[in-house]
Amino acid sequence: MNGFPFSAVVGMAELRLGLVLNAVSPGIGGVLVRGEKGTAKSTMVRGLAAILPDVEVVAGCRFSCDPADPDPSCPDGPHEAGAASVTRPARLVELPVGASEDRLVGALDIERALTEGVKAYEPGLLAAAHRGVLYVDEVNLLHDHLVDLLLDAAALGTCYVERDGVSVRHAARFLLVGTMNPEEGELRPQLLDRFGLTVEAAAPRDAGQRGEVVRRRLAYDADPAGFAGRWRQAESGLAERIVAARALLPDVVLPDATLRQVASVCAAFDVDGLRADLVTARAAIAHAAWEGRGEVTAADVRAAARLALPHRRRRQPFDAPQLDEEELDRALAGAGEDPDDDPGPGDDGPGGGEPEASHETTPGQDPPSPRAEAAPDPGPDGQPQGPAAEAPAQPRPGAAPARPPAAPGPVFRVKRLEVPGTGTGAAGRRSRARTDSGHVTGAQRPGDRAARIHVPATFVAAAPYQVARGRAPGGGLLLRPGDLREARHEGRESNLVLFVVDASGSMAARARMSAVKGAVLSLLLDAYQRRDKVGMVTFRGSGAELALPPTFSVEAAAARLSALPTGGRTPLAAGLLRAGDLLRAERIRDPRRRPLLVLVTDGRATGGADPVASAHRAAGLLAAAGVHSVVVDCESGPVRLGLAGALAGSLGGVLLRLEELAAAPLAESVRVLKEVA
Ligand SMILES: [Zn+2]
Repeated sequence: MNGFPFSAVVGMAELRLGLVLNAVSPGIGGVLVRGEKGTAKSTMVRGLAAILPDVEVVAGCRFSCDPADPDPSCPDGPHEAGAASVTRPARLVELPVGASEDRLVGALDIERALTEGVKAYEPGLLAAAHRGVLYVDEVNLLHDHLVDLLLDAAALGTCYVERDGVSVRHAARFLLVGTMNPEEGELRPQLLDRFGLTVEAAAPRDAGQRGEVVRRRLAYDADPAGFAGRWRQAESGLAERIVAARALLPDVVLPDATLRQVASVCAAFDVDGLRADLVTARAAIAHAAWEGRGEVTAADVRAAARLALPHRRRRQPFDAPQLDEEELDRALAGAGEDPDDDPGPGDDGPGGGEPEASHETTPGQDPPSPRAEAAPDPGPDGQPQGPAAEAPAQPRPGAAPARPPAAPGPVFRVKRLEVPGTGTGAAGRRSRARTDSGHVTGAQRPGDRAARIHVPATFVAAAPYQVARGRAPGGGLLLRPGDLREARHEGRESNLVLFVVDASGSMAARARMSAVKGAVLSLLLDAYQRRDKVGMVTFRGSGAELALPPTFSVEAAAARLSALPTGGRTPLAAGLLRAGDLLRAERIRDPRRRPLLVLVTDGRATGGADPVASAHRAAGLLAAAGVHSVVVDCESGPVRLGLAGALAGSLGGVLLRLEELAAAPLAESVRVLKEVA
């Protein structure tokens, strides 16, 4: 029962602040927490509910209606004024990564709606999270479709479910918190932006602090109740402060000069759109309220910008969000000045000298430890100072090729490569699939629940029984659940096309690499037109690299491909194993999207012990996992070894020579493309 107390988590000042500001002002839009495993980020998020104020709800309402302002569309409503109410603690609801759509938005029983005329609706997790916290651990692995539903609900404050014209809606306002480990793949950039704030969580580097983490954990594990008791005062102190800040929030003033600072900071960091300004302003107001101030100052803007802007900066796709502190201070100080003026002394209005002062209080600094521990709290922001000083902001260190990478050769129209069998993935234009759209190929008895009703087939099924069921002349058709038929559609699905590209020395003959890049680019273009998701693993030198996490952005893929350096040994096995890891993670994230692995290689493997056998072993693992592969054989020259063919055998896949990729003879398709362009 006793979770690890929020206030007992050591360090993590930024995360603490991000969560608390959202608790004060849910309009900020939630927090995305990025960090490696084992940083106690989940512990802290899970501790949040305990310091949130209790909520008063209409008794018996499964949708947590506020008695003072019940939801007019509440499926359990309408609630009469003065209905009985109960007070309960705020909830933290966890959305598991593998959850179904029904589990998230609720299940609408279409059979009962049609046969009994009642809206039978089983609320989902969004209903449970209303007026509380919705927590998604590993949000980057969540099925894209669920992410969309989730973010729509978060943006609208409403959950909407519709099946065959029967619909239900209810309020769903919650504090959305996601955690992710960037090593397991980034979030799609457009989703990243939908989170109000982002926070980097890192395990403390300071030895004293690390010791304290362990000490508290041991104490908690030995006696959770006793430990919680010792932190009760700190917890209720935080809870009271949140209540006070919420009460103060509507009265906090945002002076014009400070608002100008918000705009100036957002402009300086080259963020997209105005959403950043809005979130920064909201977070700054919440920060002022949290500090008990009635007016927003530069310190509030600074604290808000650090959380609201890193993930909104324009940057190379899939580069990690970050914000340079000095740049931030310059932007804050520069607000209101004409950028061309000489940097005069700081006499420019209220914001002037304040950034300096902003390093002070961080909310909920660890309260005095129950034991008299010498070292005062490790300082509000122990982590951000160090790296800002030492790590130069240079993009991607190392990886500088000796020669500029080979430019991609001409692009052409490619043959359709497809995954055999019939899938059930999202609509697209690649492999055969049973889909929600596409042409109707027939009707069938539904499985556990009918998705799309096939009305004529349902009537035909019901017709023979009308007399037996006692249908009155002129009366309506009498339907029973067993009559229902659902439509069967067939169309094409989109897939995940994962390119595994050999960038080693054996491929590095310049002309050859150009042709290879041109071919992969052609395949990418094709994938875009077929609405596939694409990803790219490359291997060369000492290992394999995830050059592009799965994305719908073909531009990102093309950019990575053009800049791809080549040379070194050929760790083919490492490339295939990396691909296998990625596909495993993707299967969790998007289980119905079938992968197509396109291995671009001459089949050679070097480096390590027994490189060829390792490569064939890795290929066998992929085949055993049911991954369908196409090997594009790039071998050229007078002497052919046919290594790629053997590898295609181990993969159980299809072999195509580079020249065979084109849908029509090469010259022909180049001409067609030029005409289209
Ligand atoms: Zn209600």
